[in-house]
Amino acid sequence: MTAKPDSSNSSGGMADASGPAERVLSGIQPTGVLHIGNYFGAIKQHLEYQDRYAGEAFYFIADYHALTTVKDPEEMGRLVRGVALDYLALGLDPDKATFYRQSDLPEVCELTWILGCVTGVGLLDRAVAYKDKVRQGIAASVGLYIYPLLQAADILIVRSSLVPVGQDQAQHLEITRDIAGSFNAAYDCDLFPRPKTILNDAAVVPGMDGQKMSKSYDNTVPIFASEDEIAARVKRVKTSSTPLGEPIDPGTDIVYQLYRLFASQEDADAMSRAYRAGEMGYGASKGLLQAAMVSYFEPYRDRRHELEGDLDYVEDVLRQGAERAREEARLTLDLAREYVGLAARTTTGAAR
Ligand code: AMP
Repeated sequence: MTAKPDSSNSSGGMADASGPAERVLSGIQPTGVLHIGNYFGAIKQHLEYQDRYAGEAFYFIADYHALTTVKDPEEMGRLVRGVALDYLALGLDPDKATFYRQSDLPEVCELTWILGCVTGVGLLDRAVAYKDKVRQGIAASVGLYIYPLLQAADILIVRSSLVPVGQDQAQHLEITRDIAGSFNAAYDCDLFPRPKTILNDAAVVPGMDGQKMSKSYDNTVPIFASEDEIAARVKRVKTSSTPLGEPIDPGTDIVYQLYRLFASQEDADAMSRAYRAGEMGYGASKGLLQAAMVSYFEPYRDRRHELEGDLDYVEDVLRQGAERAREEARLTLDLAREYVGLAARTTTGAAR
């Protein structure tokens, strides 16, 4: 997978993917069980970036954001824990990446307010994700409406310069750049960088029904599904009515689209050739897909089991991540307060 800098960013430049001064940040919403669309479309890239930007990669579990849709407190706890376990099992390394819960950084809420005071209503009115979510039936709350503002605060509070996201988040990054620019212009400063979007150009992962894999469509395969669950889900993958012995077009076949994510190039080519020659039917290809899915995540599954038995460790990672992120957040917030003319903080020991 490769990442391309978004040349449309308003600072005009291309993201410098090698500069040591860069800081990467991305949030993960705990709104469902993470699935293989999330893995190939986001998580894999986050893990690559923790190596490339070791020490300067910030990843957080966006529980404040999830409040817009998750209304059951127990479910919230379960989902946050699930994301933490998944990321740590898949290879998130707390020595390289700062990993924290968004709500452990209450400073983002204060910055959201300060930024909200330099943000025009029209900017948020143009956010298409809000309209899409309301169309999907999510309550049109103020929280959902100002979601991009909170997102801007998440990014700007650690003054992150690179934000790897999927295409669905590209507009929110434009909004963040606008907000950063508005603050800097209003207070004649350069406190906030204009963060660059790093678009993940991984293909959209199809779900079992061929639509984009998404929890909203109930067509996902969870990363840590059990073998039986994987078998049941693969069985449900939609296929054409091509009779056995007839050629199958791999270009339109969902089994093949999924298989090539997990298989080596050689194995994927072999399936493609056998399909075209009419030598492979769906029973055989689904068997290969199932085996490939199980073995791909096998090593991570063991690690996840271990972590499930050591939730104190998981909690420690998140707590230490929050401490590190809060140092940055307090520094930024103190500067922002000073620029806008709020009194120096008297209630916390903000280090400056
Ligand atoms: P979501 O929780 O659905 O907003 O997904 C979070 C991120 O995961 C997105 O911004 C994408 O980068 C990635 N993602 C989710 N579903 C898919 C998919 N079916 N194919 C590729 N990437 C996906």
